[in-house]
Amino acid sequence: MLARIATFRYFLFAVVILAISLLYPSLVSRSVARLAQLKQRFRAPSAIYKASTSAPSINRTPHNMAYEKELEVALLAVQRASILTKTVFSSHTKGTLTKSDSSPVTIGDLGAQALIIASIKHAFPEDEVVGEEDADELRKDEQERTLVWDLVQAAKLDDRSAEDKIGGPIKSVDDMLAALDSGRSNGGNKGRVWALDPIDGTKGFLRGGQYAVCLALMVDGVPTVGVIGCPNLPIDDQAPLDSSIGADADDKDGKGVLFGAVKGAGATSRPLSKGTLQEPKKIAMKAVPDVSQASFCESVEAGHSSHGDNAAIASKLGITKPSVRMDSQAKYASIARGAGDIYLRLPVNLKYEEKIWDHAAGVVLVQEAGGEVSDAWGKPLNFGIGRTLKENKGVVAAPKEIFPRVIEVVKEVLNVN
Ligand code: AMP
Ligand code: MG
Repeated sequence: MLARIATFRYFLFAVVILAISLLYPSLVSRSVARLAQLKQRFRAPSAIYKASTSAPSINRTPHNMAYEKELEVALLAVQRASILTKTVFSSHTKGTLTKSDSSPVTIGDLGAQALIIASIKHAFPEDEVVGEEDADELRKDEQERTLVWDLVQAAKLDDRSAEDKIGGPIKSVDDMLAALDSGRSNGGNKGRVWALDPIDGTKGFLRGGQYAVCLALMVDGVPTVGVIGCPNLPIDDQAPLDSSIGADADDKDGKGVLFGAVKGAGATSRPLSKGTLQEPKKIAMKAVPDVSQASFCESVEAGHSSHGDNAAIASKLGITKPSVRMDSQAKYASIARGAGDIYLRLPVNLKYEEKIWDHAAGVVLVQEAGGEVSDAWGKPLNFGIGRTLKENKGVVAAPKEIFPRVIEVVKEVLNVN
């Protein structure tokens, strides 16, 4: 009898659901879509990996590591985009345009952003992206659009399964423009947001110096996965960092590094390749028992970081080695692998708001390699309040053991308590 009542109840429930779906079909489809979205957001990261690919895991990364798929997609996406940026780097005319804030952008920046966003959207369609660029210029300028489209079509990983993991080629010019425009998210402290700088250090890229392709996943405003491609840095983590590194760089043999890090799982470097990912090596910051022996990195551009304040800080720390100047987040990557020790970025103009895409990936890398990062006041960087770090001024990064001393001296020089 009880069984019959239960069957009748299920029957009644099914009839009610059927009636609702016939009367309000849009309500049902909206609910189903929302449920799918929530499922994607709250599923454990390792479960996402297992559910959406049968491919083998990344070389030597621990099995079931959190954000394993995110790391692999980011590494492959940056690796593919670096093929494109290298093509532009080695050409005489880099297709430079000037943006409304008078900073330069090249056809390389636009092509790399389109390729990377297409990769992310293929693997994680619900995720948002804060990208430095957009498609406004290309929609107006047919000649530039064709140049970027030709580059995007030519940049392929030479391994089919690697290409498949990031969605294969972009299908049309319209898809390329839509991918570029998908970088307009305003960020925030909820959910999954990627921060993308397709060519960080564009001025270095144009000058023939260092530049970097940078991508980070932020979860609820916290940088969690960071990947940086540095086509012009030496592969050897131990290669000495001298002051020539930021000038007359090239991407010939022995150059090209792909850095990756996941919060709580460490940081690695590997050679950039044109196909599958190469074997990673664990990286760590160097121990600095005597801070006066440290070497420090800073921007080449005096307009991005106060060379005078940086020099005063170094001198108070007893550092006598000249600074190593290089463009882009190659600075974060270089200290993370122990080639340098301290990164100083003291503000030139207190009105300037640092952009999240200029720091998110580098911060994960340095933290996972044993370092600390804060602003010049010693305040943690807040990545969860939009496209800029508007609550912070400047950036300081150093190994954990010497970080308090470095911040103490930074505050002395800036005259803040
Ligand atoms: P870097 O190569 O380290 O000098 O940094 C390059 C980044 O500096 C660019 O991607 C810009 O977003 C950023 N930038 C532009 N103007 C300024 C400024 N006034 N202060 C600090 N950073 C800036
Ligand atoms: Mg940048």
